[in-house]
Amino acid sequence: MGAAVGTSLWQNWSGTEHADPARTVRPASAGELAAAVAAAASDGLRVKAVGAGHSFSGIAVAEGVQVDMGGLDQVVAVDPKSGLVTVEAGMPLWRLNEVLDAHGLALENMGDIDRQTISGAISTGTHGTGDRYRGFAWQVKELRLVLADGSIVHCTEFERPELFAAARLGLGALGVIAEVTLQCVPAFRLKAVERPERLETVLDGLDDLVAENDHFEFYWFPHTDRTLTKRNNRYAMSEPSRAPGRLSYWWSEGFTENTLFEASNRVGARFPGMVPRLNRLAGRVWSAREYTDVSHKVFASPRSVVFREMEYALPREALPGVLLELKAMVERERHLVSFPVEVRFAAADDIWLSTAHGRRTAYVAVHQYHRHDHETYFKDCAAIFDAVDGRPHWGKMHALNAKKLVDRYERFEDFLAVRDEVDPDRRFANPYLERVLGE
Ligand SMILES: Cc1cc2nc3c(=O)[nH]c(=O)nc-3n(C[C@H](O)[C@H](O)[C@H](O)COP(=O)(O)OP(=O)(O)OC[C@H]3O[C@@H](n4cnc5c(N)ncnc54)[C@H](O)[C@@H]3O)c2cc1C
Repeated sequence: MGAAVGTSLWQNWSGTEHADPARTVRPASAGELAAAVAAAASDGLRVKAVGAGHSFSGIAVAEGVQVDMGGLDQVVAVDPKSGLVTVEAGMPLWRLNEVLDAHGLALENMGDIDRQTISGAISTGTHGTGDRYRGFAWQVKELRLVLADGSIVHCTEFERPELFAAARLGLGALGVIAEVTLQCVPAFRLKAVERPERLETVLDGLDDLVAENDHFEFYWFPHTDRTLTKRNNRYAMSEPSRAPGRLSYWWSEGFTENTLFEASNRVGARFPGMVPRLNRLAGRVWSAREYTDVSHKVFASPRSVVFREMEYALPREALPGVLLELKAMVERERHLVSFPVEVRFAAADDIWLSTAHGRRTAYVAVHQYHRHDHETYFKDCAAIFDAVDGRPHWGKMHALNAKKLVDRYERFEDFLAVRDEVDPDRRFANPYLERVLGE
């Protein structure tokens, strides 16, 4: 069995959630993982796997046995021809990218950072941007999963298809994933074009921007009409790399987006009245640049400024109206918001609990510096998102419960039926899952 590594106080990346589990185990094989789940069952304890702890919501909070996935981080199989890659579930994305680089492969799409584990990323519906692309769970072709009774099962689209449909984006509610097989794509480069633009110009040209670019996103700076747009387009690896030099990388990703941004947020926390002016400054300092690099180096950046985040998936057509309402609400309610609002896009998919299930999606993420109060701002934003049937990111902050969520997901009841079948005793429940799925 995974050696118990004792008990330890745990907190998530943003410091919004804490846990004091009865014990923590760090299995190093699927067999050890299965034994740890069986032992928890015989001790009457609940089980919760924890990846990199990057969820802002309480989804990873362990009360009984905390399963640290750090010991399950090896490559199982790589088939460069088909692009199918199997890894242990605790592998962090940054390591996965190194493995894929070595085999001329890549993840089809990614979010902003690469610190998460693959199982954490798929379990909460982590996504990037791109009107023709989908989230991490879409790339999953097969899972090896430890169920509540300690059995180890495989599932795919053809083998236990209902379990697969639920567990590929399963909120950690159905079992502990031991291995994941991903459909990867040939390695590719991304050409990044980043530039400041007016919010109005972006909203007017939105249809073309999302259609003409593989991965389009933008940040809007509250209290201003400024945005920073990011157009990332895909090229073959034969396209020459024009990666930013070390100094330029440090200036934009190290200094401007982290060190200077932290300093500006600290000033804003001390003198809230300065926030609008600081945002105007940030909108200017986060300046235009162009570069070309291997895909994951463009998708992911370091993030050292600690913040709180709520993100909703909205029907794509609702986006312009929602952003204008958000802008009006921030001024009307006199919120002081020092972090930009991030807007991304995704194609519809058919994954049961995917936030993009059945509809072309726009994601709107609101953030607040960790020393600022986020609660009233997030509550006012949520009211706007709820009015258009928004679906909150499972790994980010929100206040919805199962009663509200059931109407926002066509296959919610099907998910609950699979949960009843494979985890009738709620071995994998925690307070967050009780709220969003019911007891
Ligand atoms: C700075 C920052 C940037 C982010 N950027 C993005 C982004 O661009 N796009 C986006 O969509 N999200 C983003 N997120 C959110 C993040 O991707 C998700 O919250 C993700 O789930 C975190 O992965 P993790 O490994 O930290 O998982 P954790 O937070 O540790 O766990 C998340 C869930 O996965 C479950 N889980 C973990 N391992 C297993 C397993 N082996 N079997 C079953 N269940 C398991 C846990 O029990 C829990 O329910 C960001 C978060 C931060 C802090």
